[in-house]
Amino acid sequence: IIQLYVPLNWFGTYYRLIQKNFVDMENMLELLKEKQEVHDIPGAKALEVKGATVEFRNVSFSYLPEKPVLKNVSFIVPAGHTVALVGPSGSGKSTIIRLLFRFYDINEGTIIIDDQDISQVTQESLRSAIGVVPQDTVLFNNTIRFNIRYGRINAFDHEIISAAQYADIHDKILNFPDGYETQVGERGLKLSGGEKQRVAIARTLLKAPSIVLLDEATSALDTETERNIQDALSRVCAHRTTVVVAHRLSTIINCDEILVLKDGEIVERGTHSSLLNLGGVYNRMWNQQIENEEEYNESEKGNLLP
Ligand code: ATP
Repeated sequence: IIQLYVPLNWFGTYYRLIQKNFVDMENMLELLKEKQEVHDIPGAKALEVKGATVEFRNVSFSYLPEKPVLKNVSFIVPAGHTVALVGPSGSGKSTIIRLLFRFYDINEGTIIIDDQDISQVTQESLRSAIGVVPQDTVLFNNTIRFNIRYGRINAFDHEIISAAQYADIHDKILNFPDGYETQVGERGLKLSGGEKQRVAIARTLLKAPSIVLLDEATSALDTETERNIQDALSRVCAHRTTVVVAHRLSTIINCDEILVLKDGEIVERGTHSSLLNLGGVYNRMWNQQIENEEEYNESEKGNLLP
């Protein structure tokens, strides 16, 4: 009994970890099929991606029966466009991207990609159309080359190198002790938050999905160099339907639409400038963030004084 219990428990824990942190281990789910909470319907067809228009239509969802997390959420991300989700902690932003990846089935409403209900297509086809750049990327205890190749196992070495170049991590890798053969992960070279996110970007570039889900890092990326990750992020999102969970509003001023979530509901929506003019929740968040940045810059200056 003990022998059986341990691996099952391991699967369960691991699956929850993947759901919770939304780590980019899509393929890992293959191994965990037994423990998945969602199932393909009998005779499910593969998702046919055309331009990858994403729609949430009156979606309501709760993890626990008594606590609704999303309430009647509707929005459309036209093919190739970017929608940003903002709002206080716990408002449901990450839940939206988890649902799009179908980690859970919804209670009410429909999630649609190119006119197909995602609950009716195979999970495999759905997940192969979606690339995830999570906040915290899990690295395997293996070489940096292996870790990037994970985006597309049969990628050629030159493709790995150009993905790394696009993700702005190639030069760094060349400076690692063994270049692309350097062992990384818990038992190897530890990468910074920004470097790990660059690995995720490189993986996603290799995967070349039609849809990108991006969970922007909250804190780890404070230095000037790390801010440059924005360029790499824009490259991975370019011409792809993108849903970004944004924490720093400055990164989303050019988004096609911003959805402001509060307690699981969309309370405001529009472009950055229209939301600023509205003078509501978004406007307050923006002013708050500017104040925080000024305070931060002041304290940085303080640190430089002798
Ligand atoms: P943050 O900015 O802090 O990441 P968020 O807006 O992404 O927050 P979600 O992670 O989507 O918020 O969480 C929305 C609500 O759902 C929260 O009240 C959270 O406690 C709850 N929740 C999230 N995951 C689970 C879960 N696995 N089981 C039960 N409740 C959950």
